[in-house]
Amino acid sequence: ANLKASSVWDVHHEALRRAREGRPVTVLSVGEPDAETVGGVDEAGIAAIRSGAGRVYGDAGGQLELRQLISQKYEKDYGLQIDPRRVLVTAGAQNALFQTMLTVLDEGTEIVIPDPCYVTYEPTVVASGGTVVPLPLRADDSFRITAEAVEKKITKKTRGVLINSPNNPTGAIVSEQDLNQLSELCRTRDLWLISDEVYSDFVFDDKKHIPAAGIAESQESTITINSTSKMFSMVGWRVGWAIVPERLINPMMAVSEGMLFGLSRISEAAALKAFSVDNDFQALRAEYSARFRVVFDNLQGVPGIVPRKIGGGMFALVDISGTGMSATEFAWKLLNDFDVSVLPADSFGEAASGHVRISLTKSRETLKTAVEKLAKCA
Ligand code: PMP
Repeated sequence: ANLKASSVWDVHHEALRRAREGRPVTVLSVGEPDAETVGGVDEAGIAAIRSGAGRVYGDAGGQLELRQLISQKYEKDYGLQIDPRRVLVTAGAQNALFQTMLTVLDEGTEIVIPDPCYVTYEPTVVASGGTVVPLPLRADDSFRITAEAVEKKITKKTRGVLINSPNNPTGAIVSEQDLNQLSELCRTRDLWLISDEVYSDFVFDDKKHIPAAGIAESQESTITINSTSKMFSMVGWRVGWAIVPERLINPMMAVSEGMLFGLSRISEAAALKAFSVDNDFQALRAEYSARFRVVFDNLQGVPGIVPRKIGGGMFALVDISGTGMSATEFAWKLLNDFDVSVLPADSFGEAASGHVRISLTKSRETLKTAVEKLAKCA
């Protein structure tokens, strides 16, 4: 396959290298939550290691108890009944995305993906023999995705549409109405709606996350992907999941066995603990809303800079095109002259060119200082 590693992380890796050398770099270029990992998770993992979990293979698709707990989260948060057999545990959402693409794509098929989108989507599609058909969104239309626009991209080769709400990098949230229409379009045109919802618990102010899995009529054409990574601050444990239609359980299990054989029982023990404790998502949301405000308010009116209004997620997207620099030039200057690393968002797609992505995974004070430097850099 025609694959090459993305250079989008160059600034980030250089920032990490400098930080290791003792430079006071503020790293805002990656989405690693700063909140403490949910209580008892680390201990549960350690206890599992001590009791021999490192010597056995877990089940492909995950152990039933964990699938039940994930299903219960949907009941608790959204009042949804999801058959735990349709919940397949994966090694992070990234692995769920890859397993999904391998399962639904064939050589020469297409998948419609809004542009901008998360950088790792394309390799999962290309390695599965497919092609990404980008659907350009517009910053001045709040990066809205409509069924009408998607429909124009459908060809005989199209197998599905991949959406991500709340979005990385734009922070946009797909509205209930747009989601319903997208879901109906996919259902009626025999396409998969693949919904990446890893930031489902990061919605700002009075915004709501609408899970695609809740659209009952589209159950047979919807694949929902999510993860423990962000919601429980456990990115390193690599536990995610896909909620798949009944008819995909078997093929996806085959892919899962071929890729992983079984999940890590150690990570599963940690995830079991995470789902068992009563986590305060309300506080998490309030904190991220406040952090976004700090970035947004402090960049208002700065010449050359336009902070985008966003509804959720873990990042703030900022238009720096008015500075006359490209996003990559701006990100390097900010790192070299001000010791702050952000991600040039060009690699997320055409529509994000001229923007940088700021991770909200630091305290409000740290973010305030960082955006003041960003303003000076402009
Ligand atoms: N989807 C999106 C939109 C993401 O931002 C990320 C992680 N940054 C992932 C999927 C993968 O998450 P995980 O750690 O669960 O593999």
